[in-house]
Amino acid sequence: MKITEIPCPGYEKVVRCEDQKSGLRALISVHDSTLGPALGGLRMWPYLSEQEALTDVNRLSQGMTYKSAVAETGLGGGKSVIIGNPKTDKSEPLFRAMGQFVQSLNGLYTTAEDVGTNVQDMVIVRKETKHVTGLPREMNSSGDPSPFTGLGVFLGIKACVEKNGGKDLKGVRIAIQGCGNVARYLCEHLSKTGAKLFVTDIVAEKAQMMVDKHRAQFVPAEEIYDLPCDVFAPCALGAVINDDTIPRLKCRIVAGGANNVLLSEQHGDRLRERGIIYAPDFVINAGGIINVSVELEPKGYNEERSFQKVNNIYNAVKDILETADREKIASNRAAILLAERKIAEGRKRKAAKAR
Ligand code: NAD
Repeated sequence: MKITEIPCPGYEKVVRCEDQKSGLRALISVHDSTLGPALGGLRMWPYLSEQEALTDVNRLSQGMTYKSAVAETGLGGGKSVIIGNPKTDKSEPLFRAMGQFVQSLNGLYTTAEDVGTNVQDMVIVRKETKHVTGLPREMNSSGDPSPFTGLGVFLGIKACVEKNGGKDLKGVRIAIQGCGNVARYLCEHLSKTGAKLFVTDIVAEKAQMMVDKHRAQFVPAEEIYDLPCDVFAPCALGAVINDDTIPRLKCRIVAGGANNVLLSEQHGDRLRERGIIYAPDFVINAGGIINVSVELEPKGYNEERSFQKVNNIYNAVKDILETADREKIASNRAAILLAERKIAEGRKRKAAKAR
């Protein structure tokens, strides 16, 4: 196994691993561990190049720093990626090698499941390192993060609708992009409120399940951006708010579970110019990391405590939207400023302790 460091300005440590025996090609990015050990999921994706994987892992890892800072999880931000196809390239040796790679950082980075990996993969990783979370409940761990992320997104949508002058979600038209794990739990909450749901997925059966269960209306994947609705909830991919899609949106609010929803920060400014309320992704989708952080508390994992902490997302989204209005800036920029302030405070506390 060959592990090499990649110098990346602004990042604490970025490492690359190549293991010929198992076929592992992976990257770990630790963005910032000022507020605690860097934690973030392990993504498996058929990246076309290593550069593409590096850009992705670094962007995601910075997002984790901000997410944890705002949600006050006591964690720093990191992420890892395996370059490979999750449908065809998974094996026990591959995830064991990944476990050894995580272990080589001696606890600076803790991993968890993410897009393309699951709890079973983490059980294999655990054979080589203890720096892994989100294992099955029977292993005294926090399990699948999606119910918590789904609840947080629901509460964030509620906060946005109220900010837009709405009283409740009855009759509110919500367009959901992606019918995966997060969307499944989000729709459970939304359908109890009387909201009108529109769904899309590139896998037709997944969308059909939502149609059947929640009497949602199906929309073809590309048409979701043009749909007249109140809320557009991206719950699939990142970078879906960009130069092409912003002029097409016919919604009042963008609020969903996906990471890195904006192609770049300036697309948050464009949303603001169009008068569209935006719930910053790393604030509204923090439910999963909040749940995982409870696992690392001294008393160990407690589901009730996780749900209580996730309830704070409602106020967190409300506060960010208020601050953005007051400061006359885009909400994503207000969220980044808040996160950076919390990290700077943490740095000061650490320096004072060291003195
Ligand atoms: P998932 O893989 O279960 O679901 C994603 C769904 O999106 C899939 O059904 C997929 O077919 C669909 N999809 C992909 N491309 C699409 C497209 N172009 N149009 C429509 N549908 C498309 O993933 P998930 O766990 O539900 O996560 C969804 C998003 O939320 C991801 O961006 C993830 O990073 C983010 N997120 C998830 C969690 C969590 O707890 N699972 C936490 C934080 C953030």
